[in-house]
Amino acid sequence: MLDLHVHSTASDGTLLPKEIAERGADFSLFALTDHDNTFGIDEFLSASSSAQGIRLAGIELAPLAGEGYIKFHLLGLGIDHRNSELQDFLLFLRRKRNERNEQIISNLQKLGMKITFDDVLAEVTNGEVVARPHIGRALAKLGYVKDISDAFNRFIGDTCEAYASTHRYHPCPAKTIELIHSVGGIAIMAHPKYWTSDLKRLRSGLAELKDKGLDGIEAIYQANTQGETVDHLMIAKSLGLLVTAGSDFHGLNKPMITLGMQVDDDEKFIAPLVERLVKYGSKFVK
Ligand code: AMP
Ligand code: FE
Ligand code: FE
Ligand code: ZN
Repeated sequence: MLDLHVHSTASDGTLLPKEIAERGADFSLFALTDHDNTFGIDEFLSASSSAQGIRLAGIELAPLAGEGYIKFHLLGLGIDHRNSELQDFLLFLRRKRNERNEQIISNLQKLGMKITFDDVLAEVTNGEVVARPHIGRALAKLGYVKDISDAFNRFIGDTCEAYASTHRYHPCPAKTIELIHSVGGIAIMAHPKYWTSDLKRLRSGLAELKDKGLDGIEAIYQANTQGETVDHLMIAKSLGLLVTAGSDFHGLNKPMITLGMQVDDDEKFIAPLVERLVKYGSKFVK
């Protein structure tokens, strides 16, 4: 088992970084990838048992998707999370994110709901990042929705009324990839199907991103259908992109997703990733 896409209480997951480390103690390869911050990394790494496998500092960012594409999420794996340039960039992203959060809350108020920023903050465990699942939880607690999923369906999903005009700031893809490389990490597109479900478009877009330095794609993604995984593996192979596997675990905020991914042969799967990490001078814990 391994997992290269996991969220903790440092962003919109519900388990502490150390709880995640403990649950995956026997994983051969394991990264924590919270949104827009690395506050959980030290706890994750120090709670990881060094005997088993490789442990990576990671992050999930959201660069501009580009014309004709929907959502581009980019994982940085094996990053030096202490780098000050990276931290300055993350702080900027979180400021922008908070401006957007206030806008969403104001939209909800305009729809007649009595919700405040404090109601949302009460749902954030120990993180610095406020994300839509926290808003969803607050709405559920206030009785406006049944659960988080209901909140996304009716009010805060990408195409919903309270969200529509409130897009997040999305940094330039090439610059974001470059930044990840500059701190020793590999840049991997998360859940390619959410970028586009059109395989032709996916292939041509990935070819362009590869020219900008993209290292690989998360072809093995827990919410994929078998067909999607097969398609994405084939595209990765034909473009010479690395392949990673991730669950996108969020604890109780995404109750259907479980921690850990099964691959055929862990060693064989890991080898090309480690090779690239070594090439970039990545710091990782083994
Ligand atoms: P944000 O980063 O604040 O724009 O919020 C997006 C986050 O909401 C993503 O990271 C997902 O983890 C989460 N999310 C999206 N759709 C759903 C859903 N239907 N149920 C629970 N969480 C969701
Ligand atoms: Fe999330
Ligand atoms: Fe994502
Ligand atoms: Zn994620």
